[in-house]
Amino acid sequence: MIDNLDNAKIEAVRAAGNLPSPKGVALTLMQLAEKENITNQEIARVIKSDPALAGRILRAANSVHAGGRRPVVSVNDALVVLGFAVVRQLALGFSLIASYSSGKCAGFDYHAFWSQSLLSGLAVRALGARSRVIAVEEGFIVGLLLRVGELALATLYPVEYARVLSDAGPSRVDLIRGEQRGFAMDHQELTRALLQDWGLPPALVEPAYFHEFPERARFESGSRADLLTHLLSAGRLLAEVALADNTHRQTLLPRLTELTTRFGQDSASIAELIDALGKEWGEWGAILQVATPPIAPFQAVAATAAGPAAKPVPASGEALRILVVDDDAAIRLMVASTLANWGHTVYSASSGEEALRLAVEMSPQMVLVDWVMPGLDGIGFCKALRATRLGRTIYVLMLTSMEDDERVMEAFEAGVDDFLAKPVNLRMLRARLSAGQRVIALQAEVARDQDEIRRFAAELAVSNRRLKDAALTDSLTGLPNRRYALDRLAQEWAGTARLARPLAVMMIDIDHFKSVNDSHGHEAGDQVLAWVGETLKQTARASDIVCRLGGEEFLLIAPGADEESARVCAERLRVAVAAGVPLPEIQPLKITVSVGVACRMPGVADIAGLIRLADQALYQAKAGGRNRVVTVLPEGFEKKPDGSLKFSTTPPLNR
Ligand code: GH3
Ligand code: MG
Ligand code: MG
Repeated sequence: MIDNLDNAKIEAVRAAGNLPSPKGVALTLMQLAEKENITNQEIARVIKSDPALAGRILRAANSVHAGGRRPVVSVNDALVVLGFAVVRQLALGFSLIASYSSGKCAGFDYHAFWSQSLLSGLAVRALGARSRVIAVEEGFIVGLLLRVGELALATLYPVEYARVLSDAGPSRVDLIRGEQRGFAMDHQELTRALLQDWGLPPALVEPAYFHEFPERARFESGSRADLLTHLLSAGRLLAEVALADNTHRQTLLPRLTELTTRFGQDSASIAELIDALGKEWGEWGAILQVATPPIAPFQAVAATAAGPAAKPVPASGEALRILVVDDDAAIRLMVASTLANWGHTVYSASSGEEALRLAVEMSPQMVLVDWVMPGLDGIGFCKALRATRLGRTIYVLMLTSMEDDERVMEAFEAGVDDFLAKPVNLRMLRARLSAGQRVIALQAEVARDQDEIRRFAAELAVSNRRLKDAALTDSLTGLPNRRYALDRLAQEWAGTARLARPLAVMMIDIDHFKSVNDSHGHEAGDQVLAWVGETLKQTARASDIVCRLGGEEFLLIAPGADEESARVCAERLRVAVAAGVPLPEIQPLKITVSVGVACRMPGVADIAGLIRLADQALYQAKAGGRNRVVTVLPEGFEKKPDGSLKFSTTPPLNR
């Protein structure tokens, strides 16, 4: 069910440490869970160090025991009622909501994400309570985190994921396909990996993995896994129906009815359920600071067919997160509402101190700050901001009525990027804003490149660790084996594609190897094999990866090699083998290899295509007399005298 390529990819992003993760007390709780002999007393002490979390957990404990029992008033009681596992997972969920309420992926609506996830948590919980398929609080947590893989992709690949989301449109199938194409993994797999990492039991993790397409799970019909998968599916859909407008609701209803009747819910009780959910959602939303627009009453949806108001379009460039800081409420409001109308996300603060706090919390891309304010003024704010790591890259535009050159110098020295004169003229504001947008876009580009390189380095680190794993090493030659070769090729394919670098592979096969076995025995054959492997490894560049695919066949992966340098390298390998003396006792028998070379180029769609091409080249090298190097172009391509490629026939249709 889980294939190796997916594992490698997910392990790589796990190792890179960029996946969504709990922070603060939630993290401490996850770590405590690993310790033995931890007492409720100690756990309670940790939870109480975060009063907001303690309050939320009490609230959760009481909503389980709403039925007239004595209310839970202490964290210790809550631990007894809910158990440590549930408390820990609640803390995890709450921490994720707080830490990932915004982010860098422009196409990903973080607010809507949590808003819907919260509703789906409550929906799963409600269905769980009615059907008793899943414990109430566990249902809440799984429901809340069902889509966390999407958040992970938005966090890992903010720019590319925005593109994948917009290409996919509303289709989940297209989305998953796009994710696989772009990242060699999809959000379902990431959800599964994260839930595993966070210690949710496998009995819940697998149903969560399959909940979008329960038919694909193939759990035994009526088994607990099967029921859970459908329950999660129903909970998720219930939330979707609750949020949908009337027309959309009509299209979702048949599927919802089909799913919920499994759990004994008829359409009247669904309507009642949705109306009850709306209320609970609002209450939880207030506690967790998640937006919860009112849900249209289920019975009365016909009246409100209109969709949500269209979002205003930014004046130019991308929408930014902007923090507006001014002690004068009138100016603050005017600037903030103008920016919001232009489509930006705006936070405002009335003092330098508050602004610093918000800057840390919201990580705005731009700050518009007034110069003269009581307490921490604009200059002081700017200096403090620049002293932090994240604050160094925030674009600071200062509002000022002072035009004195000396003072302006002072402001630049404090780290201000640009000025805007007061009273604020909107045309000037717009012009200054687009200058800032250009700088921010450039910075983002640089940061993205750095991210790429860091991520790629992390992936390679994982590959190297995996190589130590015996299962990936060929015992005769000590080289990586076929499994590793294919994993690694997939990674190099993605990595070099991201960095727009070339990639070549070589298929290397020993000539007439059978005759070594036949005339000198299998053992001599083994020694020759090991020698060829060693020779290839010694002769290849350090960055090349030599693997034994099986038998007397080797694969060399050459990241960064174009056709010309791959051919030169292959020729060097061929000569090294032909000139060497593997075993004195087999002389005068000469050992030679044939090499098929292929490079990524238009017409080579994927790694399978690349390997196929190298195989064809190898076949031609054998047919042409062996002990030689052949390069093959994709079908329909030929090389012009100047070295460029052209189509000689109709280009192949597959992309
Ligand atoms: P060609 O030039 O066409 O590649 O001829 P060949 O004899 O090298 O190719 P063929 O595929 O006909 O034979 C490969 C031989 O390699 C057959 C098999 O006995 C031998 N072989 C495969 N794996 C091992 C191994 O691990 N040790 C030894 N000693 N021989 C092996
Ligand atoms: Mg051979
Ligand atoms: Mg062979």
